Amino acid sequence: MMPQHSPARTRLCQDCDGFPTVAITTGTRTPDGSRQTITVACRTCHGTGRAALTAARIFVAR
Ligand SMILES: [Zn+2]
Repeated sequence: MMPQHSPARTRLCQDCDGFPTVAITTGTRTPDGSRQTITVACRTCHGTGRAALTAARIFVAR
C-alpha cells in the first residue's frame, strides 16, 4: 500500500482569514476621475494570507 499522503494544511491567517490584501476606497478622486484606492496588507501574515511560521510550534514532535 502506498502511504497516505496528507496534504500540508494551509492554515489561514487568523487575522484576515486568507484575505491578506484589502483595497480600500479612500473617497478621493484622482485627476482622471477614477476612485483612488489603497491596498492594505495584513500585518500579521504580511500579505501571505497564511498563518505565521511560528504557528508550526503548535505541532509538538512526539
Ligand atoms: Zn493575515
